[in-house]
Amino acid sequence: MNMFCYQCQETGNGKGCTTQGICGKTDETANLQDLLIYLLQGMSFYALPLFHDKKTTDTEFLRKTGVFVAECLFTTITNTNFDAERIIALIEKALVQREMLRGLYLANAPAGTKLPDNASWMPADRDEIFRKSLKVGVLDEQDADIRSVKETITYGLKGLSAYAYHAATLGFYDDEIFHFTFGALNKVGLNTPMDELLELLVETGAFNVAAMAVLDQANSATYGNPEPTKVSTGIRNRPGILVSGHDLKDLELLLKQSEGKDIDIYTNGEMILAQSLPYFKKFAHFAGNYGNAWWQQPEEFTKFNGPVLLTSNCIVPVEKGYAERIFTTSVAGYPGVPHIEEDGGTKDFSALISLALRCLPPTPLNEPDFMSGFGHHFLHTAKDKVIDLIKKGKIKRFVAMGGCDGRDRARAYYTERALSLPEDT
Ligand code: SF4
Repeated sequence: MNMFCYQCQETGNGKGCTTQGICGKTDETANLQDLLIYLLQGMSFYALPLFHDKKTTDTEFLRKTGVFVAECLFTTITNTNFDAERIIALIEKALVQREMLRGLYLANAPAGTKLPDNASWMPADRDEIFRKSLKVGVLDEQDADIRSVKETITYGLKGLSAYAYHAATLGFYDDEIFHFTFGALNKVGLNTPMDELLELLVETGAFNVAAMAVLDQANSATYGNPEPTKVSTGIRNRPGILVSGHDLKDLELLLKQSEGKDIDIYTNGEMILAQSLPYFKKFAHFAGNYGNAWWQQPEEFTKFNGPVLLTSNCIVPVEKGYAERIFTTSVAGYPGVPHIEEDGGTKDFSALISLALRCLPPTPLNEPDFMSGFGHHFLHTAKDKVIDLIKKGKIKRFVAMGGCDGRDRARAYYTERALSLPEDT
């Protein structure tokens, strides 16, 4: 066995990917991601008492540490980042930050305080990083039940980190989320009894909701509340750039930099949210949505004909048809794919824009347009009308659905469920 990962529904034989990820992740990258999480647990060993017990009241330091931990956890989500070099860079940064925290912690700790390995291991060189990555991981925990709960907590932390990271990008924070993350990582890294872990698991769910609320507030304050919108799936007759993932800030920067350049910007995947946000609609070159689920990327990215920007998950192994015109930014990464780094609070997307000008317009996918943007703000404004329709018997039921189909036809639960609903739903 070269690796062990069972963090997603695609996992090998429903049990675990052990030689290479079904998603395309190599064993080397998977092992380095395990080591990164191990070191985040070590960072949290110090960060928890330092920040939560107010040994330091430096809010900027707390947020810098919290956002870095969130960035690292987000980077390890399923098919977000396949680039081993980027994971090594994060490991090296985590070691630097951990040592800074360690110094502050030991300044007030009693002499002879014992430190766990994840809080004290230090590599002499890159080779030692690779060797260590083979020795730490999910299977370190021998008890299958404890392992299962610990990993579920870790996946919950990855999810809330994605929300917290995006909110922080827009300048919104909830410091309690960082305190909770440090505490949870610390407990997952130690020999914590099952009853405590189960409590932590429930709390992880609650903090996911809290993190979603901060992101909702950040998005609404920055880009306006989602409003019901008919989303076009058609194409325009000039080249375009396709933006996928979740990072609205990246979309904003790209729209500003490409204004008046004779190209259009399309959304793909989770970026569909932008179609219903007032801020983005004001850009004349903000076109419609192009494409469907993540696993259709090879066919759809090939047909798009222009540059594609991945701002977060999901990336599927890059194919020849678009290998020369795909870019990553933010937490996304793929070996050999150019990565647009942040520099001084902004990003330079000129490489995508100049490439787009040399590309053909997208090939139409001939999909029907659809409605989007029925967020909680809109539903609140429409509540009197909805209540009236319920009283008149015109609304008989509410159906809430959350999640997405898998690529395996046997995992088309959401589509099947929607199609099975009564005609008048
Ligand atoms: S994220 Fe990739 S490596 Fe991990 S279980 Fe899913 S398919 Fe396998």
